[in-house]
Amino acid sequence: MAQLGLVVKSTGLWYEVETESNERYKCRIIGKFRLQGMKLTNPVTVGDKVDFEIEDVEEKTGIINKIHTRKNYIVRQSPRKKHFLHLLASNVDQAVLIVTITNPDLKQGFIDRFLLMTEPYNIPVIIVFNKVDLYGPDEMEIFNRLKNCYEKINYNCLLTSATDGMGIDELKELLTGKTSLISGQSGVGKSTLINAIDPGLILKTKELSGYSGKGQHTTTFAELYKLKEGGSIIDTPGIKGLSFNNLNVLDVAHNFREFFELSKNCRFSNCTHRNEPKCAVKKALEESEVSELRYMNYLQILDDIESQNHWDIHEM
Ligand code: GDP
Ligand code: ZN
Repeated sequence: MAQLGLVVKSTGLWYEVETESNERYKCRIIGKFRLQGMKLTNPVTVGDKVDFEIEDVEEKTGIINKIHTRKNYIVRQSPRKKHFLHLLASNVDQAVLIVTITNPDLKQGFIDRFLLMTEPYNIPVIIVFNKVDLYGPDEMEIFNRLKNCYEKINYNCLLTSATDGMGIDELKELLTGKTSLISGQSGVGKSTLINAIDPGLILKTKELSGYSGKGQHTTTFAELYKLKEGGSIIDTPGIKGLSFNNLNVLDVAHNFREFFELSKNCRFSNCTHRNEPKCAVKKALEESEVSELRYMNYLQILDDIESQNHWDIHEM
């Protein structure tokens, strides 16, 4: 008999599926699935609603045979296999990107690269600047500049300190009742923040994922946790870098939201906002209506994509 379930964890080999009566089954999948014509490293992802057949009642194993239509999903180029896509999560209400200005330093362009993943489905993003307790005047100035830049284009920004509690109540409130993907580069304090939000959760995370050699907590796979106050978070592994050979130049242009908005007024409908005449984005840039930082990062992403594609062509 087919069962309905929610994928709450993926380990690469198994998918952990929770039924409506909160029973968990270890499921696998048979057959090939594709997305946007590209190969996927993981056809099923955390947040997916699936139908599965119970294989072994005692062992609690099953086989997934249907993925319900996704409301949205977040996908990236696989960090290990360049020509594969990796699904981070699906069916989310919002994404929380945790960054810090210092310790470790914020990587130039990282925020904009992340936003390229959430923009295709217009997934709301909260950018959390953690470790504010370590910010001096220079870091605060950088924070204020970034906050102005991102709030102007309707991304929510929040200052937090996981260690001294600043902003935690606000963050909690933003998470309640919603399904939120939580992401960030490693070391930004994601685990500490989750622990500050709901102390019960992190113990579970640690128990299940174990520790790395340095005694540090490591999360290897995405996992969905239900929050005490309602809603859930999808904890994802720390991101090192983001490349996009699944996108072309116009995809990037369309997913910089303020550029897309302005592009209606560009002379050419396929304007890439670089050297084309009568470009509304470049005009807005000159008038400081478009952030120079965003524009520089945009050019950098286009360069990366074009050089990656160049090498791909010459490899063949
Ligand atoms: P993750 O890799 O993003 O999960 O980061 P962790 O939660 O493991 O935190 C990395 C390091 O940053 C740890 O030593 C934490 O104690 C520290 N840390 C986390 N949040 C804060 C914060 O708000 N302020 C300060 N000063 N340190 C923090
Ligand atoms: Zn243009």
